[in-house]
Amino acid sequence: MTIRSIKIYHVDATKTLTKGYVFCRVEAEDGTVGWGEAYAIPRRERGIAEFIKGLGVMLMTLDDVSPQSFRENVFGWYDEGHLSIDLSSAASAIEVALWDILGKQAGKPVCDLLGDVVQRSLPLYVNMDPVNDHHQSIERLVQRCAAMKERGFDAVKIYPMEYEPLEEAVECVRRVRAALGDDTHLLLDAWALDGAQSAVEAARAFAPFNPFWFEEPVAGERISDMAEVRRQIDLPIVTGERQSGLHHFRAVLEGRAADILNPDIVSVGGILEILEIARLAETYGAKIAPHCWNSTTVAVAAMAHACAVMPNALIGEYFADYEPFFSEFGELDIDVSGGMVTIGDAPGLGVRMNEAALAGHEI
Ligand SMILES: [Mg+2]
Repeated sequence: MTIRSIKIYHVDATKTLTKGYVFCRVEAEDGTVGWGEAYAIPRRERGIAEFIKGLGVMLMTLDDVSPQSFRENVFGWYDEGHLSIDLSSAASAIEVALWDILGKQAGKPVCDLLGDVVQRSLPLYVNMDPVNDHHQSIERLVQRCAAMKERGFDAVKIYPMEYEPLEEAVECVRRVRAALGDDTHLLLDAWALDGAQSAVEAARAFAPFNPFWFEEPVAGERISDMAEVRRQIDLPIVTGERQSGLHHFRAVLEGRAADILNPDIVSVGGILEILEIARLAETYGAKIAPHCWNSTTVAVAAMAHACAVMPNALIGEYFADYEPFFSEFGELDIDVSGGMVTIGDAPGLGVRMNEAALAGHEI
């Protein structure tokens, strides 16, 4: 296939959802349109969009475009051997759009092009980030968690270290657990503490409330500190959302620093890249629980398709509070309900974007 055009959209949601979101529309020579999304790092959205523009120019010079050939060209000459999560986020947007095109051309859901489908449904956990309420009280957090349970989600993630001192953080976990009962998974994200020892102390204090996992106790690149925390606590450790490049994930696994990796499909480079990370993780007995601080449209669909062929996929991230905002920009032809995302028969990613709503956001 060859590519006729590429359009890029920056949906600035800083007033409602704290950051912007970046989408791309890639049109093949036969008129088939594919949609992509890049993980938008706050305040760097426009830079990431510029990278997509540059990659789009390269894309249109290729005679025989496929996700594989595109990826080789990104690695081969565009990145000059200099790893950058902004560049890999941008590359992800195009890579995912190319898969959407291939699926539509074949009349098949993308997962059916990726290998043996092992599950069409992926459990989701809801991220309880306070959105724009930066000083969310424990009371408010408890109410929101209970409301998500009412909506049918049986896994929620909270950030207890937002509450200080540690006694207050423990009180937060205790109250959320009490509100949810024992049959809902409670995921804890430490969001990279300064010290490994304080992470160990916190994890031990939270352990009686049966957390599902303990995420990013220290920054992801501090692999030996992460491994030290893991040796000292009994909770599963999750890391990977801020990193890209297979070598990083290999170093985490070789260092026995984590039980679960949470790469973001639209920051690591796209579907091929996350599947490579997942295959590597499998050889170490590690699970994949994709990070997905993205829209509730393209990135969620891409995550569901990739996880469909991933035997070690555990659970995916979802921002249920974002649904009303993104419903204006796109709809999924895949089902999100009952705490699961389930792929149906729709060809491609199963995403219908609203071009009229996006038009004013083209850059
Ligand atoms: Mg996190």
